[in-house]
This record gives sequence, C-alpha cells and structure tokens, in this order.
Amino acid sequence: MGNWQNGIAKLTLPTPFPVGDVHSYLIKGDRLTLVDAGVKTEEAWELFKAQLAELNLTPDDIEQVVLTHHHPDHVGLLDYLSTTIEVHAHPLNERWLTKDNHFASEHDEFYMGLYRQFGIPEELCGPSVNNMKKNMRFSSECSLSGYLYEHDVPSGLEGWRVLETHGHAQGHIALWREKDGVLIGGDVLLAHISPNPLLEPPHPGERERPKPQLQYNQTLRKLQEYPISIVHAGHGEDFGNIHPLIEKRLSRQHDRAMKVKRMLEDEPKTAFEVCQLLFPTVYQKELNLTISETAAQLDYLLSLEEIAVREEESSLLYAAIGR
Ligand SMILES: [Zn+2]
Repeated sequence: MGNWQNGIAKLTLPTPFPVGDVHSYLIKGDRLTLVDAGVKTEEAWELFKAQLAELNLTPDDIEQVVLTHHHPDHVGLLDYLSTTIEVHAHPLNERWLTKDNHFASEHDEFYMGLYRQFGIPEELCGPSVNNMKKNMRFSSECSLSGYLYEHDVPSGLEGWRVLETHGHAQGHIALWREKDGVLIGGDVLLAHISPNPLLEPPHPGERERPKPQLQYNQTLRKLQEYPISIVHAGHGEDFGNIHPLIEKRLSRQHDRAMKVKRMLEDEPKTAFEVCQLLFPTVYQKELNLTISETAAQLDYLLSLEEIAVREEESSLLYAAIGR
C-alpha cells in the first residue's frame, strides 16, 4: 500500500458487506484517475484520505473517476469528492446512481413481480426488496458526466481501453492496458470467489430481464481472447494466469447447474424451492443473493434446453427435460 507500481496505486477500503474490503485504483495518466470509489461511510472516507496522503495526494488532486460498475462498494465515496469531478462509466449504471423516482418504482415492481414468479412466499418478498434498498445508503447519488463503451479510450488515459464485461452487473466494464496486459477488473474476475450474477430489471426500453449468468460466461470467454498479464481486482489479491481460472469457473458453474437439473428430475419446482435445496441454511437471511444464484443456474439450463419452464398459477415451474 502507499506506492505506485507501473503507474497504478491500490487503495484498500473497508465495507460493511460480507465480501470484506474493496480496492480502488489510481492511474497516473494525463489526468489522475480514480477507478472505483469505496462505500459511503465515514470510516472508508478517513482511510481513503490517509492512503492518498501516503502518496502525497489529497482528494482534490483526483481529476476524474471511472466506475467499473454501480454497486455501493464501488461508488459510495463519490458523494465525498468534489461535486464538479467528472465521473465516467457505462450508461447502464446511471439509473442506479441517480435513483430517480421512475426507476425507484420500476425497481420495486420488477423485483416484487419476479419474486412472485419465482414462488417466493409473499411475506418474504417485501422484506427482501427492502433489504436490497437498504444497501443503497452506502451508494452515491452522483450522475455520470460521460459514457464509456467497448474499446473506448477514456479521456486522459492514453493506452487504456474499456472492455465491456457485463454479467455481475449490467454495464460492468474493465480497463485494459494494451502495452503490458494489465487489467483493472472491478468484480469481473476475483481470485477467491465467483461474483454473483445479480438480477437486474430490463434495460431501459426493453421488456425482458437480462440473463446475467449467460452474459457473464460470454464475458469470461471474451477475456480468454485478451493477453492479460495481471488482474487488479475489486476484492482480494492481484493475480495472473487467468486461463485456468476461467476454465475452472466455467466448469464449476456448469456442474452446479447440472446438480440443479437433477433436482428437477422427479418433479417440477419453483425457483424458490430450488433455492431452498441449494442454500438450505442461508436462503432466508440472504434471499436476494441466493435467489439470483439460483436463477442463474435456471437461466443457464434453459439456454441449453436441459430444462423447460411453464407458468402455473402465476408461478414459474421448472422441469428437467428427460432422456
Ligand atoms: Zn459488485
């Protein structure tokens, strides 16, 4: 901590979430750029300033921010930075930051509707959606000053390119430096855990919700095509040699999905019933996380036509397609 390596400095900040610490990165480009911005807590802000001070910097020296994605542990400290600072990210993050009234009601409606379809009992739906919103107090209310898309070179960051890496979040991006293969990856690839393919409402103007596990698998295959030497991740250690890690992630996910398929062989089940079987001890406490993990496996199996889905009494019932 507290030093530059190849023009990059890592800041490590605490979060109130089970994932533990989150990393932000400074890039010394033509503009001093902060990639991701911790959670909105006094504790994170104090440590942020202290770690900048070790680099002989203050928050006012930061000239722009690039966000990998909108999750609270990656954006919260924006509310402590200058209100005139430029913030760049993929446009799909915007609604999660500004949280305008339209999106707030769309958000609740989407999750309530989906959770009912998943067969989650009414008395668990409301509290779970509210839990999700509670975490937003650690988020930021800034709005974006510029949008970043696939292969863009962010202003002041000559040599860096944006890679769209959607899945864990809609609008997730990573920054890749062509000359030495450095990737600042956000949560796209972590050394110790696989990021949750979280459910999100349909993109603006669309009706179908995205299928985050399918997007994520595509993202992993895309990363295999890039000569990546080291990943500076949003959580945990830096690592290289991503090919075997990606292969392992893809095959573990496939195995988990096939386990879910076997659960659907005797009789059809709702997503909630599968969720209870997959996560018998934590599903109640962490319903949002466990149901998105479950939906991910079901989406994946549907895409392979290993299972089929039908609607019954306003719930979706999933069944294995037999042999
Ligand atoms: Zn995240």
